[in-house]
Amino acid sequence: SHTKPHLVHVGHLTGHQYDVIVVGGGHAGTEAAAAAARVGAETLLITQKIHTIGALSCNPSLGGVGKGQLVKEVDALDGLCGRAGDWAGIHFSILNRRKGPAVWGPRAQLDRQRYRDFIQSELLSTPRLTMVEGSVEELLVTEPNPEEPGHHRVTGIRLANGSHAISARSVVLTTGTFLSGSLFVGQTTSPGGRIGDAPSSAGLSHTLRERLGLRTGRLRTGTPPRIVKDSVDLSLAKLHLPDSHPTPFSFLNTHTHCKPEEQLPCYLTFTTPGVERVVRESLQLNCHIQQDTKGPRYCPSIESRVLRFPGRSHQVWLEPEGVTSDLLYPQGLSMTMPPDIQLRLIREIPPMRRAEIHTPGYGVQYDFVCPTQLSPALQVKSTQGLFLAGQINGTTGYEEAAAQGLWAGANAARSALSMPTVTLSRTESYIGVLIDDLVSRGVTEPYRMFTSRAEFRTSLRPDNADLRLTPKGFEEVGCVSSVRYQESLRVRNSLQDALTALQALFLSTSSWKKKLPSVPISETKSTLLTGLDLLQYNDVTFEMLASAFPESLSSFMEFAQRLKIEAVYKPHCDLNKKEIERIQREENMSLPQDIDYFSLPVSLSDEVREILDRVRPSTLGAATRLEGITPAAVVNLLNYVRVTE
Ligand code: FAD
Repeated sequence: SHTKPHLVHVGHLTGHQYDVIVVGGGHAGTEAAAAAARVGAETLLITQKIHTIGALSCNPSLGGVGKGQLVKEVDALDGLCGRAGDWAGIHFSILNRRKGPAVWGPRAQLDRQRYRDFIQSELLSTPRLTMVEGSVEELLVTEPNPEEPGHHRVTGIRLANGSHAISARSVVLTTGTFLSGSLFVGQTTSPGGRIGDAPSSAGLSHTLRERLGLRTGRLRTGTPPRIVKDSVDLSLAKLHLPDSHPTPFSFLNTHTHCKPEEQLPCYLTFTTPGVERVVRESLQLNCHIQQDTKGPRYCPSIESRVLRFPGRSHQVWLEPEGVTSDLLYPQGLSMTMPPDIQLRLIREIPPMRRAEIHTPGYGVQYDFVCPTQLSPALQVKSTQGLFLAGQINGTTGYEEAAAQGLWAGANAARSALSMPTVTLSRTESYIGVLIDDLVSRGVTEPYRMFTSRAEFRTSLRPDNADLRLTPKGFEEVGCVSSVRYQESLRVRNSLQDALTALQALFLSTSSWKKKLPSVPISETKSTLLTGLDLLQYNDVTFEMLASAFPESLSSFMEFAQRLKIEAVYKPHCDLNKKEIERIQREENMSLPQDIDYFSLPVSLSDEVREILDRVRPSTLGAATRLEGITPAAVVNLLNYVRVTE
């Protein structure tokens, strides 16, 4: 097997057989290729332009609320984006700090060039991975099996020049916004997947739709103009500083590459009534906004924002594009009007009265494949060996793409190497929530992650992604290196030892009061309390306990923050765990066949009620396995049936 990295010329590949071919070098494709190679597959990454591998098409940032959890999970499975973020980050902050640590959102502004460089150099040093520049024109598949009509098997790809066919046991398609992509600025439309890049050839859409019979839909998104930094008067915007101590995304990193004092600030400003006037006056010159295609609801264009909420002032963040970049990224000003009107619009915002545009904003519309046609391994159900990941599945965002890419790549490798595919459940990860939502519910608008989508979010925290996923990634999936695995075991064992030591500190309330005189310990609480009970108090830190009991606790100081969070969430997580175990125990409990699911007095979504009414599962276990039924819905159902029995 290859041990040296490869960047080859396409002419050398004809007739080659790979285990896995990954098409597309965006956020999904790079994670997919790296994960497939880590699992042990000879992998080929084919992408239109080698130098755009790892490019950030839109915002120069990574993470955020819900998205940061995905980055931590990709990292726990040994993916690239967390470490790339730590290398390229120039402004780190934890969002949502006023809420509990379960829903904190680690986020960083990135230096675009550094991010790309990191991803490219990681891929170049990944054993078993070869990269080649080219555009895939066609998927090669077998004729349908007569015993299973409509079922195919993928055998490889053909490149755009028609001559090069390359064989593979698995293919992962991660073509992003490029599938039948069209770009929009004002009234001008041109074929393209991203500014400066051609769309995927029509042949690929044809294979998916006509040959494989897959259902596709159309979505859109857009990006703001990039502004010349020197032309902006930043003294008129509000300064926004990063956290003074940057928190790395990766479990493997204790520091970020950027020193705390070298971080760059962001600036906050607001739209004025003039912005709304320019949008309204130019609507007829803006064909992207006039169309019905669904755009990203949670990252809308300025046109959609002012039309939906007239008379309001909207936030605009002015973000650095990199340490040496002369540009600013105006987050919140995604727009598709003609360039001269874009200039008029931005000049209605005080700090940008004299601003110059470097590159105008534009919109893109593209095909996606309805993801309900995929298995939880992200494999097309009707085509053995074909996996899809990223924006092609109807999602939006780098983190959502990276998470799917890693999982699809690992499974593509396992399938090619004749190992069973693996799944992640909603109860163990945000990646599991993301994939379950996609394959069981599908999408009607670009899908992005939120913490509210995860029923068990108090257990699926950014701080414990390593505990939840690294052992599984090593022992069951094979995508985690032994170095990371060993370190995760060391941390897990130390945390367990620390929790045991805290529980062994079993003292009366009055003894605790003597030890920690500054803490108001309530008399109504039990007269005997453990150190772990005490750590649940708002004003008790692990450091305080360690200074009171140095002999048993001081060796665990490196885990002080994790232990505090673990203690605070312990009661919640124990309850979650019990509920999950209860569902597993009660698998065979019968569900009455005459239940009126629509009037059941428990918390169930309309969607869940409809599914239960249509299928009428005979047991709780059968309900659990239905597509679209969440673990929280099963818990509510179980509670109801138990009470009425
Ligand atoms: P991409 O990162 O797009 O990568 C696709 C890759 O596939 C590219 O490298 C391309 O060259 C390659 N490729 C495509 N077809 C072929 C082929 N046939 N053969 C070989 N290679 C091929 N996300 C947000 O969250 N918020 C936003 O506001 C937002 N706005 C966006 C605006 C624009 C204009 C664009 C283009 C994207 C925007 N995004 C936004 C989306 C974000 O860029 C994507 O979610 C993310 O990049 C998806 O990752 P991906 O790997 O699926 O695809």
